[in-house]
Amino acid sequence: MDTKIEKLTAGTEAFSQREEEVLRRAGSIIKEGGLVAFPTETVYGLGGDALNRESARRIYAAKGRPSDNPLIVHICQFEQIHAIVSELPRDARRLAEAFWPGPLTMILPKSPCVPDETTGGLDTVAIRLPSNPIARKLIAYSGGYVAAPSANLSGRPSPTAPDAVAEDLGGRIEMILDGGDVGIGLESTIVDLTVSPPQILRPGYVTQEMLRQVLEKVDTDVTILAGDTGQAPRAPGMKYRHYAPKGELVIVKGEPDKVAAYMNSQAALDSERGERTGIIGTKRWLSLYRADVVKCLGESGDVESAARNLYAVLRQMDQEQVGRIYSESFAEQGLGEAIMNRLLKAAGFRVVEVS
Ligand code: AMP
Ligand code: MG
Repeated sequence: MDTKIEKLTAGTEAFSQREEEVLRRAGSIIKEGGLVAFPTETVYGLGGDALNRESARRIYAAKGRPSDNPLIVHICQFEQIHAIVSELPRDARRLAEAFWPGPLTMILPKSPCVPDETTGGLDTVAIRLPSNPIARKLIAYSGGYVAAPSANLSGRPSPTAPDAVAEDLGGRIEMILDGGDVGIGLESTIVDLTVSPPQILRPGYVTQEMLRQVLEKVDTDVTILAGDTGQAPRAPGMKYRHYAPKGELVIVKGEPDKVAAYMNSQAALDSERGERTGIIGTKRWLSLYRADVVKCLGESGDVESAARNLYAVLRQMDQEQVGRIYSESFAEQGLGEAIMNRLLKAAGFRVVEVS
């Protein structure tokens, strides 16, 4: 299949006539059962009609995604939520008021019009109202309900730039809307409102502290930062080794100079065995590192830039054919919790503590 790539001015509400026309065409593709990748504020999404079971099947096929891993339904107006849920708790309204449009996904009981294919057979549905203007206009032109997982091949890091989408899905989908680099870089925070108290199933830009300002109580799924709980994660997709680069990743925790010494000595051993080596770090410590490829996530302490750059850096490690990667760790608080969750999953929970 020939994948059409259409460039749109990122982040503007005022689209040109040509851009409106492109968005209308993209919407028609989705209405007719086709697939269009588009930018959101978190990562690029792969959009299909959420209320069409065939579209959901096509999404799983294009991504190579297991069909028990449900899709998030994207809407563009709050009122649309009524048609796809069977119940709207007060907490859901309060969260929507505080964080929509934005990087928050809510799990709610589904109404019968949402097909089992979209929800992976669950009787709940994941819903998000994104803030990116390209995403919102596309959703409006698509009939209002767009199922959109991240626009990567299953198991690869989520795409934060249009070329990463083309690399994974070129030839497999009808269109890619190129809106430039995304702003946040990590997938949305997922909160399950079908349990009491509500529970965070995936950490993201909307942190636990932010949620606590709106909800009286909110718990976190214990599997988010631990590899060996013996429990299945409550978001089915979180059980897969996700977000992963091709090389083997190890996270190193400890004092910065000791972390650098450990990484350098391991990388030297790996090199002797003929591996290409990589180190992922932040600016202040970068000059300490010795490996074939050293990549920077941004200023040390700037978690926003680490979140924005993480997936692109993991993909660059693949492009440079690095076989062994070592990464600095992040404090598991605020946005750092989401970064560590993605890093740990990319590393298959391999962590070394040096002292
Ligand atoms: P992605 O679309 O790639 O960002 O992944 C969506 C995530 O949302 C996956 O981890 C899914 O398992 C999770 N998810 C979607 N729908 C539900 C649901 N109804 N209940 C629990 N988790 C869900
Ligand atoms: Mg994904």
